Amino acid sequence: MAKPRPLVAGNWKMNGLRREALALAGELAARMRTGDRPPCDVLVCPPATVLAAVGEAIAGSGIALGGQDCHSAPSGAHTGDVSAPMLVDAGCSYVIVGHSERRANHGETDADVRAKATAAQAAGLIAIICVGETLDQRDAGRTLAVVLGQLGGSLPGDATAANTVIAYEPVWAIGTGRTPQPADIAEVHAALRQGLGKRLEGAETVRLLYGGSVNAANAAEILAIANVDGALVGGASLKAADFRTICTSAG
Ligand code: PEP
Repeated sequence: MAKPRPLVAGNWKMNGLRREALALAGELAARMRTGDRPPCDVLVCPPATVLAAVGEAIAGSGIALGGQDCHSAPSGAHTGDVSAPMLVDAGCSYVIVGHSERRANHGETDADVRAKATAAQAAGLIAIICVGETLDQRDAGRTLAVVLGQLGGSLPGDATAANTVIAYEPVWAIGTGRTPQPADIAEVHAALRQGLGKRLEGAETVRLLYGGSVNAANAAEILAIANVDGALVGGASLKAADFRTICTSAG
């Protein structure tokens, strides 16, 4: 079975007033329209407030639009939340669910993440389901047990290879400038691939992203690791030139 086409996704987190977001989106789109197309699918996940504006700025550039989270219900009395159909309505084709910042700051459990992923997939979105261990869990030798537990608890029962992306993001590597050794990333990704194989058809075609301090300098090495089919990028996705370099490294 052929390797899946890589995906490089930018998670802008809670960054970007309209003017900044449009400047970044415009620069990314211009870099996509000129020069060679990167050897990967490219996705940006801006804050909800600028989704529509960024969607317009990247229209026709080949860059996809995604949300950073969604509610598990399609509509209703959930003040402040955004539903999966709303993300579709705003032009999204992907949504991140279960990011460690959501799990830590909003107490989201695997069951919550599974419900969100289920809602996302029902709405026609591709769910990027995040898993990853804390430093304490890694030091205790529990990395594989933790990420496989999160995978088992967060993956919808009827998920398919087409509507699912898994992002392995060690919590201790996010925003810290620290990354695991390549062999450690390879070990986790191989375990995730095997775990997926027990859960859905065509597991070899599910994109497994690595996330955590990916930057323009380390992307090529990380993206060359076995079973790494792309990257989920935080800080470096806010710099158009760096994000472009990371995308180019995915070949
Ligand atoms: C993230 O938040 O998904 C992430 C990977 O952040 P950073 O690249 O800044 O570590």
